[in-house]
Amino acid sequence: MMEKMSDLLSVEQARQTILKSFIAVKTEIIPSINSLGRILAEPVIAPQDFPTFANSSMDGFAVISSDLQCATLSQPVQLEIIEEIPAGVVPQKIVRPGQAARIMTGAMVPQGADCVIPVELTLELDGGSQVLCNEFVQPGQFVRPIGLDFHQGNQLIPAGTQMKPHHLGLLASVNVTHIQVFCKPKIALLATGNELISAGTSQSPGKIIDSNSIMLASFLEQAGAIVVHLGIALDTLEDVQSKLEDGVNADVDLIISSAGVSVGKFDFVRTVIAQQGKIDFWRVNIRPGKPLAFGNFQGIPYIGLPGNPVSSFVTCLLFVLPVIKTLMGFGNPLETRLSARLLSPLESDGRESYLRGIASLSSSGEIQVHLIDSHQGSGNLSGLVGSNALLIVPSGVKSLPFGAQVKIILIDELRNESSEIF
Ligand code: AMP
Ligand code: MG
Repeated sequence: MMEKMSDLLSVEQARQTILKSFIAVKTEIIPSINSLGRILAEPVIAPQDFPTFANSSMDGFAVISSDLQCATLSQPVQLEIIEEIPAGVVPQKIVRPGQAARIMTGAMVPQGADCVIPVELTLELDGGSQVLCNEFVQPGQFVRPIGLDFHQGNQLIPAGTQMKPHHLGLLASVNVTHIQVFCKPKIALLATGNELISAGTSQSPGKIIDSNSIMLASFLEQAGAIVVHLGIALDTLEDVQSKLEDGVNADVDLIISSAGVSVGKFDFVRTVIAQQGKIDFWRVNIRPGKPLAFGNFQGIPYIGLPGNPVSSFVTCLLFVLPVIKTLMGFGNPLETRLSARLLSPLESDGRESYLRGIASLSSSGEIQVHLIDSHQGSGNLSGLVGSNALLIVPSGVKSLPFGAQVKIILIDELRNESSEIF
């Protein structure tokens, strides 16, 4: 039977159908120091003012500003040095008119003083008992007052923020030791196919190594998921079913399989899902990756990715990573798409295509993209590795000229060698 493109779901429709089945609900309280990459479920409120005490932002002398009213280089003001205040030490004396306390960066400003004159504007006399001040300093200058950065009760980090190193630093600075975050999604991963052998085992004729499991597991873990490996299922109803049941028993949020969802004689996965759950759709208008299935197995959401490794990667990026991001608590789970100028004309077949390309930043600041030299076959993982971007050809478009504006998804750093592509 001839297949019409209108029979296929668009990428957009498929993504919406999948995403509306997921919502982030599970949260947990964890030590802040273990929270890198996690999404805050509750805002963090400042438990105290910061800084907690007025401190000096310079090495110099804590003084009374009005004492320096007339200080100039030619007519410096002489003050008596009453003590030395290193960082971490509580001042012992009150600074009175005519006096100064030697102070280090971060040290407590002593009572009486209202500013700090930097050491560069001073000259010590009499073996350090006196100091000449060469300039006027405004009240408050070079002093970081209590609550300069924030006050107790201020919102420090809003809910929905992904924790990065600087967030962890801020929490540490005010002793917020535990925070509430969304739970990591737990994803079961199954490879299917009689031809598959595990990576690291010896090769034999007709067999291929299961590269999808390793690629997909690391992709999911990189995105923040916990992966439960279900192994390799043979192309039999029984084996597929029993391995999928292992996923159900592992209490996962989502089961993913690769291969076996197409129309081949041994493509049993779809049959098992349909028998023990539901198939919502199993074909999408995308290249690579048309045989993409979504449904549930015994009530657990299920996504069936295509077997060809590049198709598996691209569909994981487009259909699975947004689910992980949703479950992790991201407000916007969709990937960023950049505009780029096409530097090689291209042909397509009218399906929405995600071609392997190389994107770079030109000297004028424009993003440019061209296709990899190698072929665009959906089994060509080395071509994917040689690319840094997926170049999107919209549905219905059969060719694009040199210079056309296209959208890209970066899968690696943007290159910065505009000369290389000419
Ligand atoms: P299928 O969807 O079962 O027809 O598989 C499509 C293609 O992907 C075939 O060439 C398979 O050998 C290949 N393939 C399936 N599963 C994997 C896997 N886990 N790793 C690498 N290649 C695979
Ligand atoms: Mg197969």
